[in-house]
Amino acid sequence: MNSNLTIKSINEKIVKCTKCNLCKNRKNAVPGIGNEHADIVFVGEAPGRSEDKYGKPFIGSAGKKLDEALKYAGLTREEVYITNIVKCRPPKNRIPTDHEKIMCSMYLEKELLIIDPKIVCLMGNTAYHSILNGKEISKNHGKVIDKDDKTYFVTFHPAAMIYNKKLDAVFKNDIKKLVKIVKNLKKND
Ligand code: URA
Repeated sequence: MNSNLTIKSINEKIVKCTKCNLCKNRKNAVPGIGNEHADIVFVGEAPGRSEDKYGKPFIGSAGKKLDEALKYAGLTREEVYITNIVKCRPPKNRIPTDHEKIMCSMYLEKELLIIDPKIVCLMGNTAYHSILNGKEISKNHGKVIDKDDKTYFVTFHPAAMIYNKKLDAVFKNDIKKLVKIVKNLKKND
């Protein structure tokens, strides 16, 4: 790996990035946050209003749902890494366009190269589709998928729990399952 490549250097690029038009309306770009030696990297879609305001990922209502699930599974934010497919807020929280996702993709690639986690947890259809070309989270959540020397786990986006309370337990159990999977991956190392 290029030894000049650090999370700090990537974050410095993200906060100054002008590769797509999302930079025009942002208050803050939102780099990933957390443990640079994490076993698990969580990947969401794009920052929302609170994240744009404070420059940190998953600190609004979806973030609360994620925190609850982490706690349920015995994880803390400090031991994982949390980031997004797109690092700037799309207007009115619309789904990021293909162009925006492509322009931003090298940041996630580099985050994953540096952190080299045991598993990447793709949360929601945007993350699932962007990285694995997958569809229908509701049918595929809980699955482990290997691609290009990386292991992925697929689950719902935490915001789904805000609109569908029934998913709460499903999401929490997925995250618990993820923790078990990571333990097994480490055992077999
Ligand atoms: N939704 C996301 O996908 N990411 C965030 O950081 C916040 C909400």
